[in-house]
Amino acid sequence: MKPNYSDHIASNKEKQAHPELEPSVDNILEGLSVAVYTCDSTGYINSYNQEAVRLWGKAPEIGKDLWCGFPKIFWADGSPMAPEECPMSRALKKGLPIIDEEIIIQSLDGVKKNIRPNPVPLLNNKGEIIGAVSTLIDITEQKQAEQKQAMLAAIIESSDDAIISKTLDGNITSWNKAAERLFGYTENEVLGKHISLLIPKERLNEENLIIDKIRSNKNVSHFETFRVAKDGHQIPISLTISPIRNSKGNVIGASKIARDISAQKNAEAELQKLYEDIKTLNTKKDEFIGLASHELKTPITSINAFLQLIERSLALPDPNKVLISKARNQLSKLTSLIADLLDVSKIQTGKLPFQFSRFDFTQIIVEVIEIMQQTNPSHQLKLLSEINECIIEADQQRIEQVLINLISNAIKYAPDSKDVIIKVNRTSDNIRVSVQDFGMGIDPIDQQQIFARFYRVEKLATHVPGLGIGLYISHEIITRHRGKIWVESGTEKGSTFIFEIPFLSDCPPLMH
Ligand code: ADP
Repeated sequence: MKPNYSDHIASNKEKQAHPELEPSVDNILEGLSVAVYTCDSTGYINSYNQEAVRLWGKAPEIGKDLWCGFPKIFWADGSPMAPEECPMSRALKKGLPIIDEEIIIQSLDGVKKNIRPNPVPLLNNKGEIIGAVSTLIDITEQKQAEQKQAMLAAIIESSDDAIISKTLDGNITSWNKAAERLFGYTENEVLGKHISLLIPKERLNEENLIIDKIRSNKNVSHFETFRVAKDGHQIPISLTISPIRNSKGNVIGASKIARDISAQKNAEAELQKLYEDIKTLNTKKDEFIGLASHELKTPITSINAFLQLIERSLALPDPNKVLISKARNQLSKLTSLIADLLDVSKIQTGKLPFQFSRFDFTQIIVEVIEIMQQTNPSHQLKLLSEINECIIEADQQRIEQVLINLISNAIKYAPDSKDVIIKVNRTSDNIRVSVQDFGMGIDPIDQQQIFARFYRVEKLATHVPGLGIGLYISHEIITRHRGKIWVESGTEKGSTFIFEIPFLSDCPPLMH
């Protein structure tokens, strides 16, 4: 401390007699961790300790610096405070101490701090004001903690989720607005009450499990359960519970965040119902397709038989023979359409039958191409085979069905280019067939879908007839033969459909 201060305070005669026995007041104040300074009766700072210097940012100039000693001061609300309005000045003017007032100061480097000054006037024994002493307590951290606390409280209050805290004994210690809305109790109604108030009877054991987890410092996340509101109705909620620790890290309670999931549960139930409905409808549709195609087969067989009879009864050179042949041709298309529909329905029910036998695949492909070439003179089917003979174990009719489907598509979707190239070769375990056309090709986006049931490329669907089931059936057939089928295509470059199935014995290459 600088001069003067101890003169005002020291009065004890014994101390005066033996000053060396007592620490001086200066020494005591210097040792304090709180800033202390004094002013004379006119407000000039006349003594101070090092803590005060630390807060001011510099030592005051004696006889020049007045009152609070800070270059810039503000009221607690942040508005500027004139130097003569500062607490020290007012204390000297009024002759009264100023307590519980906060000011904001700004140091030379611009940093603001919250300070609580506490100026107390000093009187001589005549009762005259001879100056004042003040502590300056830095409450910045405390203020920040208060603000943080207030911010957290505001967040909790404005949360849409119910946020509740409780002791480890289960007594409710806080309750936000959302909890009030969700459960119907006000804060006053539940504070201090046991949390079991909210738990349905049949779920009371949940609380023990939760508390056990919390005691061992674990969280409980998104635990879906039910709680009871004040009016008795049960609410589906998702609970997240975390331990509350004190400053020493010991668990002293738990915070619960409860989210009302009624809407989500209702939506789930609705979706489930919708899903069930669609499933039922879908099953009904499949049953109908199966039944209808089955029923259609009988009259078609009869019509075909009658047409055959008429055909035979006609005299040899009869112009109606051509018409009958056309009719039978159309009928055979109808038959294969119906057969396909029946296959789809059987695939759906997992009942597509297969009859496996061993045969030479290369021979089958030659035969299929021959027949297809006869019925499709518009196109040129070219077979390029790298192997001579290849025995496979397969359902011959079904494999023919796949070949026919791929070749008819190659013809159907490439009306203006006459070449269709069928290549046969082998990999180490599989025989591989590719059917290439030079038609309209398939967009990559459609390539992923064309093997799905009833999928047709939209822009073609109107002018090329079809049901979108041929590739679906082919895919099922090849998969059931432990093989795979895929397409390689770019728009306008044509398409190549490729399938592979395992062969039985070695497939020797052709001798060139
Ligand atoms: P469908 O030919 O009766 O429509 P598919 O299941 O055989 O049924 O074929 C599904 C769809 O794939 C077809 O509608 C067509 O859009 C497309 N597609 C099949 N093959 C070809 C091809 N070679 N070139 C272009 N598009 C094709």
